[in-house]
Amino acid sequence: MTMIEDIDREHPDYGRIIGALRADRCPDCDASDMIGGPRGGASQNLFCGRCGSGFNVAQPRYIMLAQRIGRRQA
Ligand SMILES: [Zn+2]
Repeated sequence: MTMIEDIDREHPDYGRIIGALRADRCPDCDASDMIGGPRGGASQNLFCGRCGSGFNVAQPRYIMLAQRIGRRQA
């Protein structure tokens, strides 16, 4: 089952998670190994190459919002 969790300004970890994604780091394991997946319009999927955590982010060039989209096998 894939759990989708919105990470918006109301989210308690918004600053930490968005800050990590902007710095191209995984919010969960701090690896600098984020792999870009499909990109459509104003959003893009990013997956961590180490732990597999996935995020759908917007905008790709300057992330303001993210959704946690579950983990894939790393
Ligand atoms: Zn990770």
